[in-house]
Amino acid sequence: MHATEYSGGCSCGAVRYRASVTPRFSFHCQCRQCQQATGTGHASLFVVPVDAVSLSGELRFYEQTADDGNTVSRGFCPVCGSPVVGKSSGHPDIMLFAAASLDNPALFKPEKVVWSASRQPWDYTDPDLPVS
Ligand SMILES: [Zn+2]
Ligand SMILES: [Zn+2]
Repeated sequence: MHATEYSGGCSCGAVRYRASVTPRFSFHCQCRQCQQATGTGHASLFVVPVDAVSLSGELRFYEQTADDGNTVSRGFCPVCGSPVVGKSSGHPDIMLFAAASLDNPALFKPEKVVWSASRQPWDYTDPDLPVS
């Protein structure tokens, strides 16, 4: 199977990325940190191996300790503030990308909802998705 090109960037275009690989995993995260980082009920993220990614432009990273104990670095564009990437100290071989940063966000196919214990009552996700 030919890998789809996952390309995208921030709102202003200063940050761009490309990954010629099928994401390993795509999910919604309803943890409080993702709520705060996105300004809404969950982050929608897909996971790709670091070595499949090419990134251009300058990101700023905000580091915090995630609920799983790992240090999470949230990379955003310092010009427009769009969340673009995430990294976790526990998983140095992967990067997470924000689904809406894709040039074609319809490529995003969520498989699961995680951290649903922090779900907000107004946050709707597909009820057919498995939840943890
Ligand atoms: Zn930007
Ligand atoms: Zn989260």
